[in-house]
Amino acid sequence: MSLTSESPVAVLCSGGDAPGMNAFLRAVVRLGLNRHQIPVYGIRDGYRGLVRAARQVDGDAEALYAMKQEIERNIGNRGLIDAQQSIIKMDHASVSGIMGKGGTILGSARCLDFHKPDVRREVIQLLDKLGVRALIISGGDGSLTGARLLAEESDLRIIGVPATIDNDLQFTEMSLGVDTAVHTLVWAVDHFIDTARSHRRVMVLETMGRESGDLARMAALASGAEMVITPEGGALTEARMRSLAEKIEGAMTRGRGHAIVLIAEGVKFEPAQKRNGAYILRDAFQSYFQREGAPFPDLEVRPSVLGHLQRGGHATPGDCILAARFAEEAWKALLNPKGINGITALRYNKVEIVPFGCPDLPERAVHSRAMDALHNDLASW
Ligand code: ADP
Repeated sequence: MSLTSESPVAVLCSGGDAPGMNAFLRAVVRLGLNRHQIPVYGIRDGYRGLVRAARQVDGDAEALYAMKQEIERNIGNRGLIDAQQSIIKMDHASVSGIMGKGGTILGSARCLDFHKPDVRREVIQLLDKLGVRALIISGGDGSLTGARLLAEESDLRIIGVPATIDNDLQFTEMSLGVDTAVHTLVWAVDHFIDTARSHRRVMVLETMGRESGDLARMAALASGAEMVITPEGGALTEARMRSLAEKIEGAMTRGRGHAIVLIAEGVKFEPAQKRNGAYILRDAFQSYFQREGAPFPDLEVRPSVLGHLQRGGHATPGDCILAARFAEEAWKALLNPKGINGITALRYNKVEIVPFGCPDLPERAVHSRAMDALHNDLASW
């Protein structure tokens, strides 16, 4: 099957938003229009927008006709203004001035209904009736699973694009949004250092990353945070927390005035705990520093869960460039009649398409361990 100017390619952003998604949308639209002369439909709110549109039509010929009319009438920014319009024909101007803007102009969402095969079938039928033959889907692990299922259950051409600040997709060296999130974390650490130094405090900052510690360890390496705790290091027991506190206290004894500790959200505790890691660690550190006869009983520990701050902000040049490279490779794959369905990935610094369900890059784990060792030596007191 080859794509033509009669068969638009649809693009959507799904799951957690990531900086760089807008640069990616811009690149997909501009490459479609300028390089390939193929129209691009933007889908609002990820899979939720597709499901909403399928329900709006619900097999009704008149509703389908009305939707086609709406898509052709409200092009670009006119369609984007109307929050009810789920499918928008994108034009040059609709992606002007959005390059570095955080978030996504199309919106992103989670959609539980998309887990149901019959709902996906309705979506596939709608896309068929609209003449859409291919989709480019950006998002994290869950979104890419949805993309794989769509590919398996239809004859649509589907390309996924990894976009998540968590850097937990192990088949690619980087996902869209990671570079910006690391940048934001370095900024945050810099701000916390000012107050930590002034008050001689220990700051425990909790980062995102889901089950992966990559975001935390990259931020630690780039910011100079004194300590980083990741899920890959194993569960935190009382004994381990005490030995971390001892390490900080030892550094204070040797003249250190403050410490920044990064803890990734995916770190587990033994016994299991429900609270955020930053608070658990604060309590453990504080009670160690205040024990009978301790040298620094007034040493304060302040926890902070950095949360969604990490997902926002202006995308870095690194993310904008990666977005353009991913978009270009996605188009190449779609236009290659022998091209496979799959996901764009950065491997050995080259962008390529890997099949859905592709195994992890073994170098990722090696690289993470090397980063931990490097941080340890750079930050040791
Ligand atoms: P992320 O893509 O950031 O990992 P989620 O895991 O929440 O975020 O997934 C985003 C969306 O992808 C879900 O709300 C759902 O619509 C779709 N999705 C996730 N997992 C599946 C699945 N197993 N089957 C079908 N769709 C899925």
